[in-house]
Amino acid sequence: MTEAEKDALLDAVRTFVNDEVLPAAQAAGDSTAFPENVVNGMRKLGLFGTFVPAEFGGLGLDMQTHAKVMEEIARGWISMAGVLNPHHLCCKLMMQSGSREQKESLLPRMASGEYRCAFSLTEPHTGSDVQAITTSASRAEDGSWVLTGRKRWITNGLAARFIFALVKTDPDAKPAHRGMTCFIIEKEPWAMTGNGRFAGVAIGENIDKMGDRGVETTDLVLDGYRCSGDRILGAEAEGLGKGFTQMIAAMETGRVGASALCVGVAQRCFEVAVDYARKRHTFGKPIAEHQAVQFKLAEMATSIRAARLLTQDAARMKDEGRRADLEAGMAKLFATETARKVAQDSFDIHGANGYAKDHEIERLLRDALSLVSAEGPAEIQKLIIGRAVTA
Ligand SMILES: Cc1cc2nc3c(=O)[nH]c(=O)nc-3n(C[C@H](O)[C@H](O)[C@H](O)COP(=O)(O)OP(=O)(O)OC[C@H]3O[C@@H](n4cnc5c(N)ncnc54)[C@H](O)[C@@H]3O)c2cc1C
Repeated sequence: MTEAEKDALLDAVRTFVNDEVLPAAQAAGDSTAFPENVVNGMRKLGLFGTFVPAEFGGLGLDMQTHAKVMEEIARGWISMAGVLNPHHLCCKLMMQSGSREQKESLLPRMASGEYRCAFSLTEPHTGSDVQAITTSASRAEDGSWVLTGRKRWITNGLAARFIFALVKTDPDAKPAHRGMTCFIIEKEPWAMTGNGRFAGVAIGENIDKMGDRGVETTDLVLDGYRCSGDRILGAEAEGLGKGFTQMIAAMETGRVGASALCVGVAQRCFEVAVDYARKRHTFGKPIAEHQAVQFKLAEMATSIRAARLLTQDAARMKDEGRRADLEAGMAKLFATETARKVAQDSFDIHGANGYAKDHEIERLLRDALSLVSAEGPAEIQKLIIGRAVTA
């Protein structure tokens, strides 16, 4: 894409967010109905395949433009960014580790959004400690794989056709991560219980989250689900025992996306704070003219800019083909804290009205907290950063 084409795309995304996403987010309130019209709008704009190469039907964007698109969508509604971000992680996994046959058969339909995808590491008893997962796959006599276990917190779990899930294929492997494999689990989208060739795969109830309510987050229950070795990411010869490395590597890209989401939410919290501060009067003038409120807004604007620059810096490193675990970790750490702090400051500026559901900040504050743990909490980012700076 030329620079002019990228600018035109960003303009189109901004218009879509202002005209369709923001009104849909406010109209949805606390509902957990899935806004498929907004999802279709994202599909039409090509946003399911932002950085998928054009030869596979994607937009072929660089990571910096991808991050700007994701910021804009999250400014409109974190849940719609949540529909995309794990899907993008799966696209990245496929581009990075898929076999030629897997790429040709799945990637174009993933890029178009026809096949929606979910990413699954977490289990009921473990999140950050990925190597402690217990969901397992064992080989049956006919050579196929039989999967058993329970995964949790899967964003898009119900809507997805494919769930890229990390499971143990060798429980005795040392170190444990060498015994882990990424399976591309196929299921019927929107079906809670699988039948026929999808027997043994079930989706749990939508987790009743405090925010980010426009996208479903579910369990995946595997009870003797059978698939062949060509459902291993990269196919059996290349992918068996490589799942941990594949998924952790792809999460660098996921962290750039998650940082952009935080910046987008923070930006919207800032916009509604400025708007409210201009309109609300105390002691004879708009509260925007009280220096204490201006100082708060100044700090909010500065943090958002810093978070955006950190995100763009990590994205630029990825565009240059460099590893960016340090930079993506820093961006995620700083951007998450920015979203949390800016949401709280915006809430404060709204006074009592911020606590009422008809003001957007009430939802934004709850949405901002959804980013605290997703893609790794602050402590895990600090472990990544700490290791990198002491290596
Ligand atoms: C809205 C939402 C969407 C999500 N979507 C997905 C998804 O699509 N797919 C998926 O697989 N997961 C998803 N998750 C799960 C997310 O990835 C996990 O929440 C995250 O990995 C943290 O795991 P945990 O919640 O089990 O926390 P734990 O790992 O149990 O950690 C609990 C606390 O202990 C701290 N801690 C843990 N280990 C250490 C340590 N070594 N040193 C210091 N502190 C430590 C953590 O920082 C945290 O504060 C989602 C979560 C949310 C909230």
